[in-house]
Amino acid sequence: MKGLVFDIRHFSIHDGPGIRTTVFLKGCPLRCLWCHNPESQSTKPQTVTKENRIGSKTYCVQDILGKEMSVSEVITEVAKDTPFYDESGGGVTFSGGEPLMQPDFLIAAIDECYKLKIDVAIDTSGFGAPDLLRKIAEKKPLFLFDLKVINNSDSIKYTGVNSNIIINNLKLLDSLGTNIAIRIPLIPTITDTTENVRAIANLVNTLKCATQVNLLPYHAIAGDKYRRLGISYLLKDLKPYTQKELDDVAKKFSNVNVPVTIDA
Ligand code: SF4
Repeated sequence: MKGLVFDIRHFSIHDGPGIRTTVFLKGCPLRCLWCHNPESQSTKPQTVTKENRIGSKTYCVQDILGKEMSVSEVITEVAKDTPFYDESGGGVTFSGGEPLMQPDFLIAAIDECYKLKIDVAIDTSGFGAPDLLRKIAEKKPLFLFDLKVINNSDSIKYTGVNSNIIINNLKLLDSLGTNIAIRIPLIPTITDTTENVRAIANLVNTLKCATQVNLLPYHAIAGDKYRRLGISYLLKDLKPYTQKELDDVAKKFSNVNVPVTIDA
Protein backbone atom coordinates (compact mmCIF):
# COMPACT_ATOMS: atom_id res chain seq x y z
CA MET A 1 0.00 0.00 0.00
CA LYS A 2 1.26 3.47 -0.88
CA GLY A 3 0.71 6.86 0.67
CA LEU A 4 1.55 10.36 -0.49
CA VAL A 5 4.21 11.77 1.83
CA PHE A 6 5.56 15.30 1.53
CA ASP A 7 8.24 15.15 4.19
CA ILE A 8 9.78 12.96 6.87
CA ARG A 9 11.48 15.04 9.53
CA HIS A 10 13.87 13.45 11.98
CA PHE A 11 14.69 14.59 15.52
CA SER A 12 11.55 16.61 16.06
CA ILE A 13 11.02 17.75 19.65
CA HIS A 14 7.72 19.60 19.20
CA ASP A 15 5.46 16.85 17.87
CA GLY A 16 4.82 14.83 21.01
CA PRO A 17 6.95 13.42 23.83
CA GLY A 18 10.66 12.72 23.44
CA ILE A 19 12.58 12.73 20.18
CA ARG A 20 10.28 11.93 17.28
CA THR A 21 10.26 11.35 13.57
CA THR A 22 7.38 13.20 11.97
CA VAL A 23 5.82 11.78 8.83
CA PHE A 24 3.92 14.46 6.93
CA LEU A 25 1.11 13.04 4.81
CA LYS A 26 -0.17 15.16 1.96
CA GLY A 27 -3.78 16.33 1.75
CA CYS A 28 -5.88 18.44 4.08
CA PRO A 29 -9.59 19.33 4.00
CA LEU A 30 -8.97 22.56 5.91
CA ARG A 31 -7.70 25.84 4.49
CA CYS A 32 -6.46 27.65 7.58
CA LEU A 33 -5.47 31.17 6.57
CA TRP A 34 -2.23 30.88 8.58
CA CYS A 35 -1.21 27.40 7.36
CA HIS A 36 2.58 27.00 7.60
CA ASN A 37 2.52 24.02 5.28
CA PRO A 38 0.41 25.08 2.28
CA GLU A 39 2.27 22.44 0.27
CA SER A 40 0.49 19.87 2.43
CA GLN A 41 -3.03 20.83 1.40
CA SER A 42 -3.38 19.36 -2.08
CA THR A 43 -3.90 15.61 -2.29
CA LYS A 44 -1.74 15.47 -5.42
CA PRO A 45 2.01 15.91 -6.01
CA GLN A 46 2.85 19.49 -7.03
CA THR A 47 5.75 20.88 -9.04
CA VAL A 48 7.16 24.17 -7.79
CA THR A 49 10.09 26.34 -8.79
CA LYS A 50 12.61 27.14 -6.08
CA GLU A 51 15.11 29.97 -6.34
CA ASN A 52 18.59 29.29 -4.98
CA ARG A 53 20.99 32.21 -4.66
CA ILE A 54 24.72 31.70 -4.91
CA GLY A 55 26.53 35.03 -4.56
CA SER A 56 24.77 37.48 -6.85
CA LYS A 57 23.34 34.79 -9.15
CA THR A 58 19.92 33.18 -8.84
CA TYR A 59 19.34 29.63 -10.02
CA CYS A 60 15.88 28.15 -10.46
CA VAL A 61 15.30 24.48 -9.74
CA GLN A 62 12.12 22.46 -10.04
CA ASP A 63 10.97 20.55 -7.00
CA ILE A 64 8.18 17.99 -6.71
CA LEU A 65 6.21 18.19 -3.48
CA GLY A 66 4.79 14.84 -2.49
CA LYS A 67 6.24 11.39 -3.02
CA GLU A 68 4.45 8.08 -3.13
CA MET A 69 5.93 5.76 -0.54
CA SER A 70 4.94 2.29 0.57
CA VAL A 71 4.24 1.59 4.22
CA SER A 72 7.41 -0.47 4.41
CA GLU A 73 9.50 2.36 2.92
CA VAL A 74 8.18 4.77 5.53
CA ILE A 75 8.68 2.30 8.35
CA THR A 76 12.23 1.52 7.20
CA GLU A 77 12.97 5.25 7.34
CA VAL A 78 11.43 5.89 10.75
CA ALA A 79 12.87 2.73 12.29
CA LYS A 80 16.38 4.16 11.77
CA ASP A 81 15.73 6.43 14.74
CA THR A 82 14.64 3.68 17.14
CA PRO A 83 17.63 4.18 19.48
CA PHE A 84 16.61 7.82 19.92
CA TYR A 85 13.00 6.87 20.63
CA ASP A 86 14.15 4.37 23.23
CA GLU A 87 16.46 6.89 24.92
CA SER A 88 14.00 9.77 24.98
CA GLY A 89 10.56 8.17 25.25
CA GLY A 90 9.86 9.35 21.72
CA GLY A 91 8.42 7.72 18.63
CA VAL A 92 6.72 8.51 15.35
CA THR A 93 4.19 11.26 14.76
CA PHE A 94 1.91 11.11 11.74
CA SER A 95 1.08 14.65 10.73
CA GLY A 96 0.13 16.54 7.60
CA GLY A 97 -1.77 18.02 6.09
CA GLU A 98 -4.36 15.90 7.76
CA PRO A 99 -3.27 12.28 8.26
CA LEU A 100 -6.90 11.12 8.45
CA MET A 101 -7.13 11.91 4.71
CA GLN A 102 -5.13 8.72 3.98
CA PRO A 103 -6.92 6.34 6.34
CA ASP A 104 -5.81 2.95 4.99
CA PHE A 105 -2.19 3.98 4.75
CA LEU A 106 -2.29 5.59 8.18
CA ILE A 107 -3.78 2.53 9.86
CA ALA A 108 -1.33 0.18 8.13
CA ALA A 109 1.61 2.40 9.15
CA ILE A 110 0.41 2.61 12.76
CA ASP A 111 0.13 -1.18 12.90
CA GLU A 112 3.67 -1.61 11.56
CA CYS A 113 5.02 0.86 14.12
CA TYR A 114 3.39 -1.05 16.93
CA LYS A 115 4.80 -4.33 15.61
CA LEU A 116 8.22 -2.73 16.09
CA LYS A 117 7.19 -1.34 19.49
CA ILE A 118 7.50 2.23 18.23
CA ASP A 119 5.30 4.75 20.02
CA VAL A 120 2.77 6.56 17.81
CA ALA A 121 1.19 10.00 17.93
CA ILE A 122 -1.35 11.41 15.48
CA ASP A 123 -1.30 15.15 14.86
CA THR A 124 -4.80 15.92 13.63
CA SER A 125 -7.16 18.80 12.95
CA GLY A 126 -9.89 16.48 14.22
CA PHE A 127 -11.81 16.88 10.98
CA GLY A 128 -12.57 13.35 9.87
CA ALA A 129 -15.08 10.54 10.01
CA PRO A 130 -15.99 9.55 13.59
CA ASP A 131 -15.76 5.85 12.70
CA LEU A 132 -12.20 6.32 11.51
CA LEU A 133 -11.23 8.16 14.69
CA ARG A 134 -12.82 5.41 16.73
CA LYS A 135 -10.86 2.76 14.82
CA ILE A 136 -7.57 4.60 15.32
CA ALA A 137 -8.34 5.34 18.99
CA GLU A 138 -8.65 1.58 19.61
CA LYS A 139 -4.95 1.33 18.79
CA LYS A 140 -4.15 3.72 21.66
CA PRO A 141 -1.92 6.33 20.05
CA LEU A 142 -1.50 9.78 21.56
CA PHE A 143 -3.71 12.29 19.76
CA LEU A 144 -2.20 15.74 19.28
CA PHE A 145 -5.56 17.37 18.69
CA ASP A 146 -5.64 20.87 17.22
CA LEU A 147 -8.27 23.29 18.45
CA LYS A 148 -8.45 26.45 16.41
CA VAL A 149 -11.67 28.41 16.21
CA ILE A 150 -14.68 27.26 18.25
CA ASN A 151 -17.43 29.51 16.87
CA ASN A 152 -18.74 27.72 13.79
CA SER A 153 -19.16 30.68 11.45
CA ASP A 154 -15.69 31.97 12.38
CA SER A 155 -14.29 28.47 11.89
CA ILE A 156 -15.71 28.33 8.38
CA LYS A 157 -14.37 31.84 7.71
CA TYR A 158 -10.81 31.14 8.91
CA THR A 159 -10.32 27.40 8.35
CA GLY A 160 -12.96 26.50 5.78
CA VAL A 161 -14.64 23.81 7.88
CA ASN A 162 -17.41 23.28 10.41
CA SER A 163 -16.03 23.38 13.96
CA ASN A 164 -18.91 21.30 15.33
CA ILE A 165 -17.52 18.23 13.55
CA ILE A 166 -14.14 18.81 15.22
CA ILE A 167 -15.63 19.44 18.66
CA ASN A 168 -17.82 16.33 18.44
CA ASN A 169 -14.83 14.23 17.39
CA LEU A 170 -12.83 15.54 20.33
CA LYS A 171 -15.64 14.60 22.69
CA LEU A 172 -15.83 11.18 21.06
CA LEU A 173 -12.11 10.54 21.60
CA ASP A 174 -12.44 11.70 25.18
CA SER A 175 -15.36 9.36 25.79
CA LEU A 176 -13.19 6.49 24.51
CA GLY A 177 -10.49 7.22 27.09
CA THR A 178 -7.96 8.38 24.47
CA ASN A 179 -4.74 10.07 25.50
CA ILE A 180 -5.15 13.63 24.20
CA ALA A 181 -2.83 16.63 24.08
CA ILE A 182 -4.57 19.76 22.85
CA ARG A 183 -2.63 22.02 20.49
CA ILE A 184 -3.74 25.57 19.83
CA PRO A 185 -2.18 27.68 17.07
CA LEU A 186 -2.11 31.19 18.47
CA ILE A 187 -2.99 33.48 15.59
CA PRO A 188 -3.26 37.17 16.51
CA THR A 189 -6.86 38.47 16.39
CA ILE A 190 -8.16 35.09 15.13
CA THR A 191 -7.61 32.29 17.66
CA ASP A 192 -6.36 34.41 20.57
CA THR A 193 -9.49 36.50 21.11
CA THR A 194 -10.93 36.50 24.61
CA GLU A 195 -14.12 34.91 23.31
CA ASN A 196 -12.33 32.06 21.49
CA VAL A 197 -9.93 31.37 24.37
CA ARG A 198 -12.86 31.26 26.80
CA ALA A 199 -14.71 28.81 24.54
CA ILE A 200 -11.61 26.63 24.22
CA ALA A 201 -11.04 26.67 27.99
CA ASN A 202 -14.68 25.74 28.63
CA LEU A 203 -14.42 22.84 26.22
CA VAL A 204 -11.07 21.55 27.50
CA ASN A 205 -12.31 21.71 31.08
CA THR A 206 -15.12 19.28 30.23
CA LEU A 207 -12.66 16.64 28.99
CA LYS A 208 -11.45 13.77 31.16
CA CYS A 209 -8.56 12.67 28.99
CA ALA A 210 -6.82 15.87 27.89
CA THR A 211 -3.57 15.97 29.81
CA GLN A 212 -2.04 19.18 28.49
CA VAL A 213 -2.49 22.21 26.28
CA ASN A 214 0.32 23.37 23.98
CA LEU A 215 0.14 26.87 22.57
CA LEU A 216 1.83 27.26 19.18
CA PRO A 217 2.51 30.95 18.49
CA TYR A 218 2.18 32.32 14.97
CA HIS A 219 5.43 32.67 13.00
CA ALA A 220 5.60 34.61 9.75
CA ILE A 221 7.63 31.98 7.91
CA ALA A 222 5.28 30.65 5.29
CA GLY A 223 5.05 33.62 2.89
CA ASP A 224 7.68 32.29 0.50
CA LYS A 225 5.99 28.91 0.23
CA TYR A 226 2.71 30.57 -0.78
CA ARG A 227 4.48 32.59 -3.45
CA ARG A 228 6.08 29.46 -4.93
CA LEU A 229 2.76 27.65 -4.95
CA GLY A 230 0.99 30.61 -6.55
CA ILE A 231 -1.46 30.95 -3.65
CA SER A 232 -2.15 34.36 -2.11
CA TYR A 233 -1.10 34.59 1.53
CA LEU A 234 -3.86 36.64 3.12
CA LEU A 235 -2.01 37.08 6.43
CA LYS A 236 1.17 38.49 4.90
CA ASP A 237 0.93 41.67 7.00
CA LEU A 238 0.30 39.84 10.28
CA LYS A 239 3.15 40.35 12.74
CA PRO A 240 4.39 37.61 15.10
CA TYR A 241 3.91 38.18 18.83
CA THR A 242 6.35 40.13 20.92
CA GLN A 243 7.27 38.34 24.16
CA LYS A 244 5.02 40.72 26.12
CA GLU A 245 2.05 40.03 23.81
CA LEU A 246 2.68 36.31 24.11
CA ASP A 247 2.77 36.50 27.89
CA ASP A 248 -0.54 38.40 27.84
CA VAL A 249 -2.17 35.82 25.58
CA ALA A 250 -0.88 32.95 27.74
CA LYS A 251 -2.55 34.56 30.77
CA LYS A 252 -5.91 34.20 29.05
CA PHE A 253 -5.51 30.41 29.42
CA SER A 254 -5.15 30.56 33.19
CA ASN A 255 -8.63 29.01 33.64
CA VAL A 256 -7.63 25.81 31.87
CA ASN A 257 -7.49 22.91 34.31
CA VAL A 258 -4.50 21.11 32.74
CA PRO A 259 -0.90 22.34 32.31
CA VAL A 260 -0.51 24.93 29.54
CA THR A 261 2.84 25.35 27.79
CA ILE A 262 4.04 27.59 24.99
CA ASP A 263 6.06 25.90 22.25
CA ALA A 264 8.80 28.11 20.87
S1 SF4 B 1 -5.17 21.85 9.37
FE1 SF4 B 1 -2.97 22.22 9.40
S2 SF4 B 1 -2.24 21.51 7.40
FE2 SF4 B 1 -4.46 21.76 7.23
S3 SF4 B 1 -4.75 23.84 6.42
FE3 SF4 B 1 -4.87 23.94 8.67
S4 SF4 B 1 -2.80 24.44 9.33
FE4 SF4 B 1 -2.66 23.70 7.20
